[in-house]
Amino acid sequence: TAPIETLEFQSEARQLLQLMIHSIYSNKDTFLRELVSNASDALDKLRLEAFRDKELQADTSDLHVAIEIDSEQRTLTVRDNGIGMSRDEVISLIGTIAKSGTAEFLRKLKESQDAAASQELIGQFGVGFYASFMVADKVTLVTRKAGSDEGVRWESEGAGTYTIEPVADAPQGTAVTLHLKPVDAEDQLFDYTSAAKVREIVKRYSDFLTWPIRMAAEPTEEGAEPTVETVNSMKALWARASSEVTEQEYTEFYKHISHDWNDPLETVRFQAEGTFEYQALLFIPSRAPMDLFMRERKRGVQLYVKRVFIMDDCEALMPEYLRFVKGVVDAADLSLNVSREILQQDRQIQLIRKRLVKRVLSTVKSLDAEKYGTFWKEFGRAVKEGLLDDFDNREAILEICSFESTHDADKPTRLAQYVERMKEGQEHIYYLTGESRTAIENSPHLEAFQAKGFEVLVLTDPIDEMWVDAVPGFEGKQFQSIAKGQVDLDENQDEEQKAEFAGLLTWMGSALEEHVKEVRLSSRLTTSPACIVGDSHDMTPTLEKMYRAMGQ
Ligand code: ADP
Ligand code: MG
Repeated sequence: TAPIETLEFQSEARQLLQLMIHSIYSNKDTFLRELVSNASDALDKLRLEAFRDKELQADTSDLHVAIEIDSEQRTLTVRDNGIGMSRDEVISLIGTIAKSGTAEFLRKLKESQDAAASQELIGQFGVGFYASFMVADKVTLVTRKAGSDEGVRWESEGAGTYTIEPVADAPQGTAVTLHLKPVDAEDQLFDYTSAAKVREIVKRYSDFLTWPIRMAAEPTEEGAEPTVETVNSMKALWARASSEVTEQEYTEFYKHISHDWNDPLETVRFQAEGTFEYQALLFIPSRAPMDLFMRERKRGVQLYVKRVFIMDDCEALMPEYLRFVKGVVDAADLSLNVSREILQQDRQIQLIRKRLVKRVLSTVKSLDAEKYGTFWKEFGRAVKEGLLDDFDNREAILEICSFESTHDADKPTRLAQYVERMKEGQEHIYYLTGESRTAIENSPHLEAFQAKGFEVLVLTDPIDEMWVDAVPGFEGKQFQSIAKGQVDLDENQDEEQKAEFAGLLTWMGSALEEHVKEVRLSSRLTTSPACIVGDSHDMTPTLEKMYRAMGQ
């Protein structure tokens, strides 16, 4: 007989499983969405692999998902005949969590005392396969990688360890069998052995999947031969008329492709006809993912060619500063063999990307105040990277940016609003950068500007230091640091004052010779006796500190 090995889950995985076993997530139905979503991905992967590798010994004649219920054993099985997993893949994909941001997520979760906040965190993280343990006290997975003849059986009760063993004659693909927990009304655990309930969940969450999801049909009469039926309508959402697709369907589709459990903030859909046909369905999420600022962060747009999935994270379709945008582009005239390298060079793809970017920016611009507020809070920092990366769209990016300002401490302002409030004769958009709002508010540089009623942008994000130097202006108005150079408040001091302080200035100039270039009278202060200013082309103190911290 074959050896059974007992292995330990990686510690992050173990912690996550504990959360699932203790079911702190209230919408338990999501487990089925996750399993069906994984099965569908596995079918996508096999189709593509078989197309690319003609030698692959795999059966692709009837790719589908099957859901089987055994009410006596109280089991539910989700089976696919897709790509499957090797033994090593089962250990690394199922036994560990490779997602970046996991440690951060678990730390936040531990800190959050409040149930609603925890729910939201879990939703934002998206638990995937482990969601099974919300409804099952034991999960068995049998899989065989397409093209291989070594099957694997994995089993776990979710508590620390799992077993793994080889199995003979496992069918190609993966079958996940849940040994269901007893029904518990209080815990909102439904009876998932009810075919009607399961069918309803599949319809609700997975209707748009383009692979057939099959279940045994209700017998029409006593003793009739059992038949199977396809539960989903199998139509790609982006290929259906917009008027036929409900909000709920878009939302579920978003969750399938993004692995996010929260609803999207906004949906964007459009298409192009003619020589280069494509359809695009994009989503702006409502929460930033944990790993938005991590180096290996992927981009979120998938590429399809005539309904056939080609790749995830298609970086050729979305610039880095919009990496949080999720969605699908289905292009009609690309080869199924297209590679990432080819895509980067492809002129048509570049045109599509241009249009996607413009649409995303204009969509954000037209969001209502509440949604825009959410957007900016979640993604503003990423968007500002675009000011440095995307010269062509600079003005459009500036239009959707918000900044803190001295006008209203509680509400960031859009630049257009700043410009509207500019005083008669004010030519520049004034800003001051610093480490924090308090530091900026205490800065002597601000005094005269406040005294004279000029509004000043309060820029505290490290990236602000970079773009203010790179971006020439907004609506023809230059950005002007109030900590640099001679600021044009009204510098024509009377000669008498100059003469009166000449001695002091000369003395201070020589006393401070090693530290400053010049000591001069200024009208920029009202209560502080003195302040240090940089030359107009100098680095700001914060930027200097940043460079020093980077060792330059
Ligand atoms: P995600 O789908 O977000 O990657 P999951 O926890 O749902 O996370 O799944 C983890 C990984 O396990 C998947 O990325 C996939 O590689 C693998 N996997 C899960 N289910 C299947 C399946 N039915 N067939 C093949 N691989 C699977
Ligand atoms: Mg998944």
